[in-house]
Amino acid sequence: MSHVFPRHTKAKLPVASHGDGAYIVDSDGKRYLDACGGAAVSCLGHSDAAVTDAVRSQMDSIAFAHTGFFTSPPAEALAEKLIALAPGDLDRVYFVSGGSEAVEASLKLARQYFVEIGQPQRKHIIARWQSYHGNTLGALAAGGNRWRRAQFEPLLVDMAHIDPCFVYRGQEEGESEFDYGQRVANQLETEIQRLGVDSVAAFVAEPVVGATLGAVPAVEGYFKRIREICDQYGVLLILDEVMCGMGRTGTLFACDHDGVAPDILCIAKGLGAGYQPIGAMLCTGAIYDAIEQGSGLFQHGHTYIGHPAACAAGGAVLTRLIDDGLVERVTPLGEALHTRLEARFGQHPHVGDIRGRGLFRGLELVKDRETKTPFDPGHKLHAKVKQAAMNEGLMCYPMGGTLDGQRGDHILLAPPFILEDAQLDEITDKLDRAVTTAL
Ligand code: PLP
Repeated sequence: MSHVFPRHTKAKLPVASHGDGAYIVDSDGKRYLDACGGAAVSCLGHSDAAVTDAVRSQMDSIAFAHTGFFTSPPAEALAEKLIALAPGDLDRVYFVSGGSEAVEASLKLARQYFVEIGQPQRKHIIARWQSYHGNTLGALAAGGNRWRRAQFEPLLVDMAHIDPCFVYRGQEEGESEFDYGQRVANQLETEIQRLGVDSVAAFVAEPVVGATLGAVPAVEGYFKRIREICDQYGVLLILDEVMCGMGRTGTLFACDHDGVAPDILCIAKGLGAGYQPIGAMLCTGAIYDAIEQGSGLFQHGHTYIGHPAACAAGGAVLTRLIDDGLVERVTPLGEALHTRLEARFGQHPHVGDIRGRGLFRGLELVKDRETKTPFDPGHKLHAKVKQAAMNEGLMCYPMGGTLDGQRGDHILLAPPFILEDAQLDEITDKLDRAVTTAL
């Protein structure tokens, strides 16, 4: 009997034995093509020697030195590399161990920044419905996935939420995509005015919505308008690129595509590519200076922040992504994947939308294409697709829909950037069979 407390207590899981490029091999020798990176983590696949060598070599020098006492060469080097590549005025990197920690740190930093600069009345955070920012209580309170929130609602601090930019379900008849984007972006201004124009600390959003909606980018102009509104009202813009960052959508940072730079940027998943648990929060020099010239202490922190072995992994991942040109593969590979998905599912009676950017793609499954009616959540279609795909030897990341017309079941694809052409066909073939079986 196992004593591990698994995520799904009723599921019987295969045992991961080893990695082989884009595949995970189980203890029976069965191979699974990892088309979702677990949850958009494994951007380099599962046997990248450069990253494992970098971690091993760091472990040979020193594995851990608490950041209350020391900094370390891999943390310094990784921060320098990230800042050299980061958009706008981002200037400082606060390392953490994962995505939820990065978001928690960003919310607290936004709040502390305003306390430090003498605006303690700025206490509200605005986020969006249909978002996911992590499972710790602060991140969950920011998140707008009602199912994930539901039973913990009594423990969540009050945060305001506006609609996401979700063109497939939100755009009205006769409205252009651009106008739709402006309309939903303007909800931020309305919400700031409702809460009090000098009482909002930050707005937080995913540039491309991952886990909750399945690879939904904002329409052109949306984030530019969001940035304008934040600037007008002195509100910090926090972008959560935990899932969509680190090259996943074709640019190193997803917001590069929108031509918008945040005040605080959260990354994780692809930063360590699964070789080590690491996340980071990047902030502008102005925010850092407010702390530095104020109290001198960001009142936050966890034991493993800036872990040298994790930072060594991050440094090696970045070298693979940038110096070895792997990010450059993402846009063409993503377009090739999209073309294949369109060819296979474009006319499928139960595929309502095929969307995404780069190697971050989503399919929304619907009962009726015309009316966009979702399947009854009771059917647990997403779980059936996941199991059928695993039986086929394919990992994909499905998520359940809601009956209120907010979203259908979707399947998220986030394969590694090392993918070969033939594996694009393997993904579509296996996914096609899995969807057919599940329906
Ligand atoms: N933010 C986003 C956008 C995510 O997709 C996730 C995880 O899926 C998180 C935050 C939380 O990250 P973690 O699971 O590493 O805590």
